[in-house]
Amino acid sequence: SSNIIAIVGRPNVGKSTLFNRLIGHRKAIMDNVSGVTRDRSYGHGDWIGKYFTVIDTGGYVHGTDDIFEEEINKQVELAVKEADVILFMVDVDAGLTGLDEEFANYLRRTDKPIYIVANKADSNARAHQMGEFYALGIGLEIFPVSSQNGSGTGELLDAVITHF
Ligand code: GDP
Ligand code: MG
Repeated sequence: SSNIIAIVGRPNVGKSTLFNRLIGHRKAIMDNVSGVTRDRSYGHGDWIGKYFTVIDTGGYVHGTDDIFEEEINKQVELAVKEADVILFMVDVDAGLTGLDEEFANYLRRTDKPIYIVANKADSNARAHQMGEFYALGIGLEIFPVSSQNGSGTGELLDAVITHF
């Protein structure tokens, strides 16, 4: 199989930070179809001998005047369509937002495996705040992760590669 992971979620939760960590020193390939910076990026990584492709997306937006809104959402839709596993990223520092809930409602349409990545869990105290995201009622599991310092990413990848 193609082993494709899509990272989705609202802007600023840390998707690109996780993407860069998963691809390490490798180069990202931009999908430049629409010529905007918020297109999908593709990169390659591996974990315990399993190779995968990871897709970074610009983030789902709703109810703004952003002229690129429609384009961004199309990118998310395409990434979800391509993916074997979806990482739905949220931010434990910001907590649960209305946009996270809208995003969860959108993702309910897919029957693909989804993991909630509770990012910015830089400390144990912060990691405990992930509990509120169970209210989203979506995903196989929630993983507290710090994309910045790398904690929790190994446990997340252990779960992800069970689908490959
Ligand atoms: P994106 O918009 O979802 O792609 O988010 P970015 O990866 O651009 O990150 C948004 C902001 O969150 C940046 O200032 C990052 O440095 C910060 N950030 C990302 N991951 C973490 C993390 O694990 N912990 C903390 N404290 N900040 C993070
Ligand atoms: Mg980004």
